Parts: sequence; C-alpha cells; structure tokens
Amino acid sequence: MAGDEADSFLIEAVQRGDQSAWRDVIARYQGRMLSFARRMLAERSEAEDIVQEAFLGLLRSLPTYDPSRSLETYLFAILRNKLHDHLRRRQKGQRQSLEQLDTDEGAEAWIDAETPSRYLADEEKISAQRAALVAALRQWVEQCTDEHRFQDLIVIEMLVVLGLRNKEVAADLGLTEPAVAGIKFRVLEQWRKLTGEEPGAHEWQEADLARDSTVARIWQEEGISCLKRSTLGRYLLGVLDDDWNLYIDFHVQQGDCDRCQANLQDLRSEDERDAASHERLRERCFASSVGFLSHPPA
Ligand SMILES: [Zn+2]
Repeated sequence: MAGDEADSFLIEAVQRGDQSAWRDVIARYQGRMLSFARRMLAERSEAEDIVQEAFLGLLRSLPTYDPSRSLETYLFAILRNKLHDHLRRRQKGQRQSLEQLDTDEGAEAWIDAETPSRYLADEEKISAQRAALVAALRQWVEQCTDEHRFQDLIVIEMLVVLGLRNKEVAADLGLTEPAVAGIKFRVLEQWRKLTGEEPGAHEWQEADLARDSTVARIWQEEGISCLKRSTLGRYLLGVLDDDWNLYIDFHVQQGDCDRCQANLQDLRSEDERDAASHERLRERCFASSVGFLSHPPA
C-alpha cells in the first residue's frame, strides 16, 4: 500500500529527528483531522487547538508507536481522545488552556494521560492475538473488495457495527433469513482460515458477529473496513463501479463512519481550501511540537 509505505518512511525519519518529515506528516493529516474535529466543535479555532494537541500527542508517543499499525488509525484515536477530554473539560467549565499545558507541570500531568492506549484497550494489552485478528480481518475486507463481494461486507458491518439482527439485515437487503445465516456461516469459515490453527488462534463463533463482541470493538477502533483515501477520492470523482459506490454510501451514511466522513469532507474542500490557513495551521502544529522531536545524533 503506497500510502502506508509513505507513512512508515516519514515516521522513521521523524523518529530520527527529521524536521521536514515532521512537517510532511502534519501537512498530510491536518486536513482530515480538522474536518473530523469540526464535526464536534463548531469553532474553527477550538478545533485547531485540538488538532495541534493531537499532533503533539503523536510526537510524544512516537517512542512507543508500533510501526505495524496504521498511522491514520493511530492519529484518529489520539484525536478522539483529545476531543473527548476537551468536551468533558468544557462541560465541567474548566477548560484548560494550551498555555497552561506548556508549563512543565502542566505538561507532566498531561503526558501521563498521553497515547491512545486508553481508547484502544485499557485493560486489554495490544496483544499478539489482537494483532493477528486485526490482520486477518483487514485481509478479509481486502479480499471482499478485490472480488467485489460487497454484500458480505455490508452484512458483516450491519451485524457488528450497526448491531442489527439477522431478521433486520434480511429485511434491509431483501434477503431471506436463511441467506443471511448462510453468509454468516461462510464468513466465519473464511475468518477461521485466515487466522490459522496456531495455538492461541481465535475460536470463531456466531457470537463474534454481534455488536458487543471483541470483533465489533476491534472493527470500530481499527477502522477495519474504512476506505483508503485514494478510494474515497475516486468515489468523489465518480469513477468507481456501482457496487463500490453502493458500498461506500452504506459505510459512510448508514454505517455513519465519522472517520470516512471526515476524509470525504477534507477531500471535497481540498481544492477550494484557503492555502494560507492551511499553511498557518501546519506551521502552528509544527512550532508547538518541534521541541519534542528527538535530536539527530551529532
Ligand atoms: Zn470508515
């Protein structure tokens, strides 16, 4: 995947203290992150503050960043975390200013709350089993889209994301209930194959296809079926096949995926975006975080 390769390349450079790579990371993600933040915060400046905090959070947590994870997923998790904290603080009427956080004491207290691990899995460590599940589920989604098996994908999202029951899925898609049960059975078989028979491999069962399952949680947290930005771009250009369009409509609207919605919004406004404000935000995020960049060896 070209995008992911570019991300790992940039992140490695940032870990070595490369400032221009850090600028590139910010430029690459700031638009979609701002769109995302503005879905919850009407004030642009408030949303920009949170985006700035999220980039700082990324830099602070880079020493423990696992490069096998998607950078976008990781950044969105940090951003969600920051938004959540911000809204809670605001509710309490004790909004902490960034200036406060810049003092040593403030930063200390704040760094403790850093990294999105709290979001991703508080009690449950990101274990090898979880990584294997994520990889298998992603691989399955890729197979579905490669082979245009979008109906399977939609059925699974209806079950694990929307929490619908067989009957509701059947009614919604104009299928019979046994057909839905058949799809579930087939998909569980496919997942079984993908996770292999190694000891410790996940024991697949029908309960995995429910909204409160571990799979459902992983699905949401990792954005398992989220669209690549390049695919969303082609969707906006109207050059995708009908079944692709139907799937994306479903995922974004019915599935109410806030992350893909933010990406679409950002892509839509990319052309008309005010270049100056884009650059201003980038420089602001850069300036506020560059001090945390590790220093290249002398
Ligand atoms: Zn999505």
